Amino acid sequence: MELLGGLGLFVKQQEKIVLKPNVLLGSDPLTCVTTHPAVFKAAGRLLQEAGAWVSYGDSSSMGKCEGNCRRAGLKQVGDELGFTIADFDSGQTVSHKEALLVKNFTIANGVLEADGMVSLPKFKTHGLVRFTGAVKNQFGCIPGFIKGQYHVKLADPHDFAAMLVDINTFIKPRLYIMDGIRAMEGNGPRGGKVRKMNVLLLSADPVALDATACRMINLDPEAVPTSKPGEQSGLGTYHIDRIEIAGEKLEAFYTPSFKVVRSAPQHCSSGRLQAFVRNQVCERPAIDKVKCTVCGTCVQMCPVKPKAVNWHSGDKTSPPTYKYDRCIRCYCCQEVCPEGAISIKNPALSRVLMKA
Ligand code: SF4
Ligand code: SF4
Repeated sequence: MELLGGLGLFVKQQEKIVLKPNVLLGSDPLTCVTTHPAVFKAAGRLLQEAGAWVSYGDSSSMGKCEGNCRRAGLKQVGDELGFTIADFDSGQTVSHKEALLVKNFTIANGVLEADGMVSLPKFKTHGLVRFTGAVKNQFGCIPGFIKGQYHVKLADPHDFAAMLVDINTFIKPRLYIMDGIRAMEGNGPRGGKVRKMNVLLLSADPVALDATACRMINLDPEAVPTSKPGEQSGLGTYHIDRIEIAGEKLEAFYTPSFKVVRSAPQHCSSGRLQAFVRNQVCERPAIDKVKCTVCGTCVQMCPVKPKAVNWHSGDKTSPPTYKYDRCIRCYCCQEVCPEGAISIKNPALSRVLMKA
């Protein structure tokens, strides 16, 4: 924080500041799905020392904020330090006239009631937008199942990314602190593997922060679809010559073997490609039948109607199956699978075309 000029630049005494960790459904901190309680604790303590009133929360597509935070080990820290749980389970519709794409949002009450936000993203891979970092973290400010509707309305990942940027330009978090001490590579944001990166990234510019994290793992920031709209909207910059790095040099954390998809997401909305073509060439979720415990969470989460992943002939004793012509590639199923049994695969034709 001293390298950035101290917390006093971002927060005033007596302000109500909401901390926004990445909680998802709440998992053991050692799995690196969630922002680690130690980072949460340190950030909250700094805010308290600066004289702020601290609350916290996150909204997942499933479960209530409090239970998810307890499973992630955050509620215990919050109780110990006297942070209050903010209301992330319900919200109000707000208008955002300067938005690139989405002019109306439902935002959690706990965000609207605070004077400001400090965002605590986790350094992780993500099937839909490649990297879930500072910009993506604010998607959890949209309460509960409403998030699924955005996936349905904005099936193209690039539209979805523009919407993520819009949320950030509305909320305007004061500061972003990314927990990259232990990151997640591979099948993120929930089913990937732990990778030690030993880094904390702090910035008031989420686009620059994400771009810097991407460069550490040899991922071109332009492959992350929030980068360009992020710059276009004035949220920040991903250009290296406009980013000043204080503290240790980026090279000290360079990990080119980090497992992440390095190509930009394909345009896969039904409006742009016919369903047949889409199914032949676009990435899609697939279930590992050995890992699947037939819990049904993926079926419950699928936001399209009729569902694109479902029990085959109603049989709940075998892994669910996909109807790819219905699937909008939102990867909500992959995100929530507790066993990491769903990964993103390229269809055979796509693999052939890539080789050619
Ligand atoms: S969420 Fe995962 S484990 Fe549960 S039914 Fe779906 S694929 Fe199987
Ligand atoms: S099957 Fe999975 S990726 Fe496809 S629409 Fe449903 S939740 Fe999204």
